[in-house]
Amino acid sequence: MKQAYKFYKDTMSLLMFIHQLNKKMIFTCCLKSLISALLPYVYIVGGAHIIDLLIQTEYDEAILYSIGMVVLYFIIHCLHGYLVHVKEIDSMEINRVCNASILMKSIQLDFATFEDKKNLEEFSAADYNTARQGGFGSFLISFEKLFEGMISMVISFIFVIELCVSIPTSKAAYASLINVGSSIALIGAIIILLFISYLKVIKYVNTNNMRIFNESIEVNQKYNYFGDQLFMNEVVAKDIRVYHMQEFIFHKWKKLTYESFVFRIKETQFTTNSLLSYSVLNDIVLFVSYLFVSLKAIVGAITIGSFTQYIGVFRQFNLALKNFVEALGDIQIKNSYLTYYISYVNKKNTLNTGTKKIEEMSNHEIEFHHVSFKYPGSDVYVLKDVSCKLNSQEKVAIVGRNGAGKTTFIKLLCRLYEVSEGKITLNGIDVRDYDYDDYLNHFGVVFQDFALFSMSIKENIGGVNCTDDELVWDCLNKVGMTDKVKSYENGFDTLMYNRMGEGVDMSGGQAQKIAIARALYKDAPFMILDEPTAALDPISEYEIYEQFNAMVKDKLSIYISHRMSSCRFCDRIFVFDDGLLVQRGSHDALIEESNSVYANLWNAQAKYYNS
Ligand code: ADP
Repeated sequence: MKQAYKFYKDTMSLLMFIHQLNKKMIFTCCLKSLISALLPYVYIVGGAHIIDLLIQTEYDEAILYSIGMVVLYFIIHCLHGYLVHVKEIDSMEINRVCNASILMKSIQLDFATFEDKKNLEEFSAADYNTARQGGFGSFLISFEKLFEGMISMVISFIFVIELCVSIPTSKAAYASLINVGSSIALIGAIIILLFISYLKVIKYVNTNNMRIFNESIEVNQKYNYFGDQLFMNEVVAKDIRVYHMQEFIFHKWKKLTYESFVFRIKETQFTTNSLLSYSVLNDIVLFVSYLFVSLKAIVGAITIGSFTQYIGVFRQFNLALKNFVEALGDIQIKNSYLTYYISYVNKKNTLNTGTKKIEEMSNHEIEFHHVSFKYPGSDVYVLKDVSCKLNSQEKVAIVGRNGAGKTTFIKLLCRLYEVSEGKITLNGIDVRDYDYDDYLNHFGVVFQDFALFSMSIKENIGGVNCTDDELVWDCLNKVGMTDKVKSYENGFDTLMYNRMGEGVDMSGGQAQKIAIARALYKDAPFMILDEPTAALDPISEYEIYEQFNAMVKDKLSIYISHRMSSCRFCDRIFVFDDGLLVQRGSHDALIEESNSVYANLWNAQAKYYNS
C-alpha cells in the first residue's frame, strides 16, 4: 500500500513537472492513448459485424459497412498521426530543456559542491538518464502505455462481461457449466492470475535492470572520462604520445568496454527471460479464450461473427493487461531514474551567500582570523591557524614549497571553499555576509591552471557581451600581445583553439598573457596571480612585472611565485610551510633570518642562477 502510494505520488509529481514545462503535453498524450486504445476495437467490432452480415447474405450492407469502417479508420489514423507528430516535437523540446537545466545546474553550483566526488556521480547519473535513457520523453511513452492499457482493459472488460452474461440458446449438456456465475468466476480467476504473473515477471526484469543500472554508474562515469578527457583532449594527447601511453590507455579502455559489455549481456539475458514468460502467458490466455468463446458459440450464446469479436477482445485484453503492468514497472523505474534528475536540478549550493554589498572605498582591508582548512571529504588540515592582514595598495608575494598551501589560501580568499575554522573578513565584515557575486566581482584572478575557451580572443578577454574594444586592445598591449593579435587576419575576433571552428593555437606563454589580459580587463580592486609567469620567457616576465607595477598601483595584488627573484619587488612576502604561515616581512628582513624557510628557498634558487 505504501509502495502504491509512493508510486502514485512520484508519478503525479513528474506529471506536474512536465505540465509546468509544457501545458498541453499531458492532454496530447492522453488523447493519443485514447485513440490508440480505441483503434483495434473499430476493427474487432466492425469485422465481427461484417462477418454476421455476410452469413445473413446481406452483401450490400456488408460492403457499405466495410467502406464506412475504412473511412472511420482513416480519419482516426490521421488524427493519431497528427498527435504523434505534436507529441514528438514537444517531447524533444522537454528533453532539450531538461538537458540544458542539468548543464546549467553544473555550471552554477558553487565550486566546492561542484568538485565534490559525490556531485560528479550524481551529475553522471542525472545526465545518463536524461541524455541516454530518453529522459522525460521516455517517461511519457510509459505513461501513454499505462493510460492506453487502462482504457483498453476497460473496453475489453465491458465486452467480456457481455460475453459472460450471454444466455445459451441450446440445451447442450455443458451449457449449464458456462452459465453467468461460472463464466464470471472463470474470467475473474484468469484475470487475477494473469495480473499476478505479469507483475512477477516485470518485477523480476525491473529489479535486475535497476541493479545493473546502479552498478553501471561508475563504469559509465569512467567511460565518459575516456571519451571526453583522454581520446579527444589535445592537452592530454601530447603526454599520451610522448610517454607512449597509447597501448596502456587502450588496454584500460578495452577493459572498461568489456565491463560495460557484461552489463549489456546481463540486461539482454533478463529481457530474453521475460519475453519467454510473456509468450507462455499469452499461449495460456489464447487457449482459455478459444475454449471459453467456442463453448459459448456451441451453446448458441453468441453468433459466429461475435466469435471472432470475442477472440479479438481476449487478445486485446491480454495485450492491454501486459502493457499496463509493464508500464507500471517502467514508470516505477523511471520514477527512480528521474529522481536523480530532479534531485540534481534542485541541488542547493553549500556555500552561504549573504546580501551585503561591498562598500566602494579606496582602502580595503582583508583579514584572516585563525583560519584552518581541510578539503571536503578529507581529515587533513592543509592550512592551520593562519592569521594575516592584507591592505589595498600593497603588493604581497606568497612563497613556499609545493603543497605548502599557497593556492588553497587564494581559493579561500576567493571563497571557492568555506573555511573550516576561523573566519575571513573584508573591511571588518565576515565575507560570508557579502553577496557572493558582488564579492567575486572584486577579484581578478589568474589561476595556475587557468582555462581559456574556444571562443574569440576578444570574448576570452571581455566576455560574450564585451563592448569596450579599446579596453581589450589596451589590455592586450599591456601584456605585449598587440602585434601578435594584429597579425591574425581577424584580429581579436580570431577564434582560439580548434574546438568550435578553425582557430589559432597559442603557446603556453601566449595563452598565459591572454589570461592575464582577461584579469586586467576586469579591473577589480584585488588582483591575484598564481604562478602568473610560469610559462613566460624572462623578457616577457620582466615586461609584465614592469607593467603590473603601474597597473596595480591602487590595488591589492597578490602573487604566488616560485621565482624568488620576482618576489623582491613586493612590499611584503608571506612564507607558507606545511599549511602554516611561518614568516612574513620584506625580502630584506626575511633574508636576514638565517636558516629560515625563506632563506633556504632563496639560497636554493640563487645557487642555480649564480653557478
Ligand atoms: P601549493 O599551492 O602551495 O602548491 P596547494 O594549496 O595547492 O599547495 O595544496 C595544499 C595541499 O592541499 C596539498 O597537500 C594538496 O595535495 C592538497 N589539495 C589541494 N587541492 C585539493 C583538493 N581539491 N582536495 C584535496 N586536497 C587538495
